[in-house]
Amino acid sequence: MRISKRVESILREAPEGRAITKDEAEHLLSFPANSLEAALIRSTANYVSRKRFNNSGLLLGQIGVDMAPCNGDCKFCFFAKSYSDIQPSLLATEEVIARCRRFAEGGAQGVFLMTMHRFGFDWFLDLCAKLKKSIPENMKILSNVGDLSLEQMRELRAAGVSGAYHVCRLREGIDSCMEPAERLATIEHVIEAGLEWYNLCEPIGPEHSPRELAEQIWIGVDLQCRQHGAMQRFPVPGSPLYSKGQISLLRLGQIAAVIALATLNNNETKSIAVNLSNVIGLFSGANAFFPEAGEPDAGACNNDVTNNREGFTTALWRSSSDEITTADCRQMFLAAGFSHLMDTDGNVFREIK
Ligand code: SF4
Repeated sequence: MRISKRVESILREAPEGRAITKDEAEHLLSFPANSLEAALIRSTANYVSRKRFNNSGLLLGQIGVDMAPCNGDCKFCFFAKSYSDIQPSLLATEEVIARCRRFAEGGAQGVFLMTMHRFGFDWFLDLCAKLKKSIPENMKILSNVGDLSLEQMRELRAAGVSGAYHVCRLREGIDSCMEPAERLATIEHVIEAGLEWYNLCEPIGPEHSPRELAEQIWIGVDLQCRQHGAMQRFPVPGSPLYSKGQISLLRLGQIAAVIALATLNNNETKSIAVNLSNVIGLFSGANAFFPEAGEPDAGACNNDVTNNREGFTTALWRSSSDEITTADCRQMFLAAGFSHLMDTDGNVFREIK
């Protein structure tokens, strides 16, 4: 079997520290996930990332604090107002604090607080300020909210927020009711306010072309995100994009690998995430997971760590009753041969057990 000469030459230079170009990324994404070339892309990114990140993984928890039918109306989302029958609700502050502590116990170094596209800014600000006083000091508060002004970003920072997840998604404005320009403006506000910018290539479906993927990936490459990575689209029954299906974990790994190779020389990028959390991703250059729940009680027989089903996580999109815990994530890190956990700045802080 012959390997593409161009792929061979690109992959030979990556371990020597040459990041791939956008054209090369598009080329690497054009191979089927089960091709020999894709296997080599994944394993090269694995080799490069293990050295780059000192064989260490990062855990960042997620808590959906505000649920309602959402006027972002994304064609893939559980909360889209056109077809969601979700009842509006807010998660109690005490419950958010309890979940943050569970995440910290499990080795998570930060937590994303997720809301709908429109949300109560003052309420959220107050929640962040309260959390700052009540959760372990090393636990970073990260927002995942709708579009905000520069002034609002500065207010979040003053309230103790360290970073913000914000993405100009694949087919933004086509598969959503949001303007790409507004999403990009908010990303600029995140950076200008001095917050760490968290980003992903998402929500990836089988219909996205190598060109589209490379274009969207390069927003994070050019603007030097703190975290890059890849997230698959979870098919939500009843949503307009449900029939498109989902990509395989092999394809998700291939895209994460291309992102790892594209960000090789970005000093600001300290980790590569993959969602769904899975071992193939860890063998493809990714080193960060987003656990859906913190540490379970010793002896607990399932993953229901809080017995409180309010709020939401990606488990909702996955249509799963079991949330992926910090313990599950550490287990996957161990299975993939990772040795340590790291913080959001890339510093190794403890052995994985
Ligand atoms: S993805 Fe976000 S913005 Fe879009 S409908 Fe869902 S909650 Fe709203």
